[in-house]
Amino acid sequence: MNKSQQLFELAKKRIPGGVNSPVRAFKAVGGTPPFMSKADGAYIYDSDDKQYIDYVQSWGPMVLGHNNNAIRQAVIDAAQNGLSFGAPTEAEITMAETVCTLVPSMDMVRMVNSGTEATMSAIRLARGYTQRDKIVKFEGCYHGHADALLVKAGSGALTLGVPSSPGIPADFAQHTITLEYNNIEQVRQTFAELGEQIACIIVEPVAGNMNCIPPVEGFLQGLREVCDQYGTVLIFDEVMTGFRVALGGAQGFYNITPDLTCLGKVIGGGMPVGAFGGKNDIMQQLAPLGPVYQAGTLSGNPIAMAAGLAAMQQIQAAGLYDELSKRAQQLTDGMQQIADKHGIDFTTNRAGSMFGFFFTDVKKVVNYQQAINCNTDLFNRFYHGMLDNGVYLAPASYEAGFISASHNSSVIEKTLEIADKVMADL
Ligand code: PMP
Repeated sequence: MNKSQQLFELAKKRIPGGVNSPVRAFKAVGGTPPFMSKADGAYIYDSDDKQYIDYVQSWGPMVLGHNNNAIRQAVIDAAQNGLSFGAPTEAEITMAETVCTLVPSMDMVRMVNSGTEATMSAIRLARGYTQRDKIVKFEGCYHGHADALLVKAGSGALTLGVPSSPGIPADFAQHTITLEYNNIEQVRQTFAELGEQIACIIVEPVAGNMNCIPPVEGFLQGLREVCDQYGTVLIFDEVMTGFRVALGGAQGFYNITPDLTCLGKVIGGGMPVGAFGGKNDIMQQLAPLGPVYQAGTLSGNPIAMAAGLAAMQQIQAAGLYDELSKRAQQLTDGMQQIADKHGIDFTTNRAGSMFGFFFTDVKKVVNYQQAINCNTDLFNRFYHGMLDNGVYLAPASYEAGFISASHNSSVIEKTLEIADKVMADL
């Protein structure tokens, strides 16, 4: 037994499934998850000191790569002054200013501790603001694990085949209408019938939890128009895409303005941080200004703010996002060529530095049905081949991958060499 196998056995005794978040357990791909001990740049190391090129990047936050010097130093410096005050600090203002400047649709922002908190709170706010109960989400989109949102959800909920979890009263889920991603006609029909009762549409502007599925032309614009017509709040869940697909998030990339935006991942620089914000008149409904309650003992935590600000400062470097996109394209183009060479049915999607691999004969994957119909058996064999040879991909075919600023051309080349070898044996 190697160290990871030993640790997994130990972990399972005290931690359900041995993990603190389900996808980490490798249930989809089988086998033992490597237990990680350190990471640097594009690389992560397991407890046996095996090195992997990492395309998970902590599920997206590490847009600059692991163990970034400036972020680490900011955390050390902030820690000298105490770990948490439960009182306002100046760093929170700098963070709010930075976020609202980079994402112009946000007039105000509230910090929270996770993406789940951000989406859960944004929905409560949208319901309070509109005084309506129903919400619309899309099949295969994941917005964290709040009750109303865990209906036909993606990510771990998809992998585990638990589209709606036990423990959620049917009464809660009945207000959640789930529609097909990238099908604007269905949205229009639903609104024609129920539009006046719908508080919000929440959407991943690039879906990243049923693998990577960008919006088709007109989808996001159509959502904007429908929301305007019916007085419904449009929420972009940019927990994954924010400061990832572009500096201004997916809303900047596709030039669509939502009413509320949820953020996470990159804004924490690796610390547990989320945020939600948007238009003044909606945000002013939030306590203590307004009646919609939302709170958090550790929200705006000084260490998390320091890490996040150090990340936010660096991502504004000229050319960073172009370079990230170029590297991601090098990877997706290279993978396609290799798959073609070996006669494997395969396609890729990409939005900025987010990407997805699909083992399918469908030329362009645009929805959940196509994503779940991919050949998971082939993916799992590919997955383990890559892992054995030192490439760490997300351990399920329904997850997006991420490139960091540390994935230079030679790291991608090395990955492609390994993929060539692995695909030859599939
Ligand atoms: N929304 C999206 C789009 C996500 O991808 C995730 C997590 N991957 C969440 C919300 C939930 O965030 P967290 O895991 O931080 O609660």
